[in-house]
Amino acid sequence: MVRVLVVEDETNIRDMIALNLRHAGMEVVEAESAEAALPLLAQKPGCDAAILDVMLPDHDGYELKTFIGDETPVIFLTAKTDVAQRVKGLAAGAQDYICKPFEPAELVARVEAALRRTGRGRTVLQAC
Ligand code: CA
Repeated sequence: MVRVLVVEDETNIRDMIALNLRHAGMEVVEAESAEAALPLLAQKPGCDAAILDVMLPDHDGYELKTFIGDETPVIFLTAKTDVAQRVKGLAAGAQDYICKPFEPAELVARVEAALRRTGRGRTVLQAC
């Protein structure tokens, strides 16, 4: 099963993302801060993808991205809608960038697309 790390400090948004990813057949690991996410990143097997809120209470999502290997697709999530922030996110090596508010179905589709691009979506097919 594909495992996705979701780091978001707003509980209702994190719950909504987790619910939709689980509904799409993914395993979800949740953290409300970068500090809470770090031990989860150290776990084996690691996550197949990560959704990182940019504005976290301790570190920002860009900092947290540096602890995630380049082979793991990262999707940044933020309320910031300006082009400079999106460019920074993509330059940091993000697979994708989603601005709040967003439709849950689009988020799930973007996670699936990121997994396909990195060849990790196949794990889902093998499990079926
Ligand atoms: Ca936030």
